[in-house]
Amino acid sequence: MSNLSFHWRALLNMATWVTLFYYGAVVIVFLTLYQEHEHYHFVYVAFPVLLIYAKLSKSYLHTCISALLSLLIVVVGGIFDPLPIDMVEETFLLLPLIYVILFPHTLWPIASSVILMLVFFLHVPETELDEFIEDAIELLTITTFASVMAFFQQKLKQQMLTYRQESMTDYLTQLPNRKGFYYNLAKFKLHGHDASQHAALLQIDLDGFKRINDNMGHNIGDLVLQEFAKRLRQLESHWVSCHRIGGDEFAVLIKQRADLTLEAEQLANRIISFSELPYTFLNREYHLTASIGIALYQDSSGLNDIWCRNADIAMYRSKENGKNTFHWFDHQLIQETIRRYQLEKELLLALEQEQFHLVYQPKVNIKTEQVIGVESLIRWRHPQLGLIPPVDFIPIAEDSQQIIILGRWVMEESCRQAKRWLDADIEVVVSVNVSAVQLAHDDVYQMIEQALGLTNLPARLLQIEITETAIMENPESIIVTLASLRALGVKVAIDDFGVAYSSLNYLRKLPVDVLKIDKSFIDDCVTNHKDKMIVRTVVQLGHNLDVLVTAEGVEEQSQLDLLAEEGCDMYQGYLFSAPVSAEQIAQYMQPMKQ
Ligand code: C2E
Ligand code: CA
Ligand code: CA
Repeated sequence: MSNLSFHWRALLNMATWVTLFYYGAVVIVFLTLYQEHEHYHFVYVAFPVLLIYAKLSKSYLHTCISALLSLLIVVVGGIFDPLPIDMVEETFLLLPLIYVILFPHTLWPIASSVILMLVFFLHVPETELDEFIEDAIELLTITTFASVMAFFQQKLKQQMLTYRQESMTDYLTQLPNRKGFYYNLAKFKLHGHDASQHAALLQIDLDGFKRINDNMGHNIGDLVLQEFAKRLRQLESHWVSCHRIGGDEFAVLIKQRADLTLEAEQLANRIISFSELPYTFLNREYHLTASIGIALYQDSSGLNDIWCRNADIAMYRSKENGKNTFHWFDHQLIQETIRRYQLEKELLLALEQEQFHLVYQPKVNIKTEQVIGVESLIRWRHPQLGLIPPVDFIPIAEDSQQIIILGRWVMEESCRQAKRWLDADIEVVVSVNVSAVQLAHDDVYQMIEQALGLTNLPARLLQIEITETAIMENPESIIVTLASLRALGVKVAIDDFGVAYSSLNYLRKLPVDVLKIDKSFIDDCVTNHKDKMIVRTVVQLGHNLDVLVTAEGVEEQSQLDLLAEEGCDMYQGYLFSAPVSAEQIAQYMQPMKQ
């Protein structure tokens, strides 16, 4: 059906009519020349051959030469073997029109009609001069009119093209915009590329652009985008095209490369490295990174929408993996995305249905070897999916801000448990992880005060753990919150210490009680000299700031020995115990009570 309508549309197309007219006119002129000339009329077979070639040839020079030769045949024939005047009329009228079609915006058709007139004029008998002049005027008028029309039509076409080009170009960066991007995708498909074709799509999202735009204003934001587009442009080639498809989103299309995977990864790495270079305006430097998702055309079942969606999913994975990186789309990723979507949808319902519970990992005083606290860690027992670890659902809860409700439950449940232990004469400080999203979007002070009030837990038995990166997102306001929590008696620990480049400047001002050295430094601290030095430095730094230091993820006795040597205060890890139930914690604490 669509094929049929396509043909009809083609038939009604102006260009098709013009082409038909062209060939029709060539045939009529040819028949006249062939039939009416008495001598050497077989020579005129060259006439249509030349004009058909002129129309079909891709080379403008060839078209010019063939057209000139065809005119020459008529002129020379007209000189040596003149046509009767009533036959001249046909050649007269149609030939210049043929040239209008071939050379629409030149003076060639008018020139050819003047030449024709002069040639025939030589042979016009005096009696037919009047008729000839009439024909000549008619001819000149029609040719001029057709030439002018063709000229304006050409101009109009050009203007339409410019307009279309502009509507597909992004004003700010001069890259093709979203419309241009979809046009390029469609063009790629029209060229007969099937699903086995080689092409890759890189979807780029700038990390940290929103921050610059919000804090520094749109002018600086625009300059940053322009500079990034300029850097991106350097990648453009016959195979690579770049587009700006939205605010800070860009797309790069790589076509038909034999080593496509390698090429795509090399391009992604180049984009990552040039996006990191500082953006300097008015003597100020701004910094950005890029998260990239790459998807192959062959994984999209030939559907552009799916291709874009795949690249998008992969790009989001890069964001989750800590940004400033690239990620390939694969089918496992789509399974994960479905699972992710399911978890996001079911999270709050699961809370209602009591599918969450807490486990507690002991924190041990290295000198006395006594359990002095626990870290509460959340677990989700899903009826179909089984036990889901927090790394799988905490980031989802953070993205959807459901962590606020979940975090409130964890806080209350942890305080309630600590109070139960206290009631059983077990004094243990419970540490609760508080996410950056909670600090940014919830009233954490009010939430904690309420949990303490509700459970009657003395504030000294509660500690919160927040990561360094969470603090750095908005240090001033978080310092105020932390200070008021400490005034209440709640302790504050900095989690995963050392992972993000810590700002020593803020550390000095931070109201904290504990630094938790990240597991990644503990892992190799016995064998790797640098890690050992980091452990030593953090312990000294903590003690100089009057802060206790905890090591997390301690799995080996040798690690514990080293920590003891370095003067670390506490440790936590599988060496002593994995996270366990509240009952088991009570058992650990029994010997202490006796
Ligand atoms: P985290 O706060 O750094 O917690 C420590 C993680 O290390 C826990 O993983 C713990 O089980 C694990 N761990 C402890 N000792 C060892 C060891 O010796 N070896 C190894 N390999 N791992 C050890 P878990 O429970 O899977 O939690 C992962 C992360 O999820 C936590 O990292 C924390 O960031 C987050 N999380 C867990 N529960 C909560 C919660 O209630 N609220 C929030 N906001 N985040 C939570
Ligand atoms: Ca923690
Ligand atoms: Ca940690």
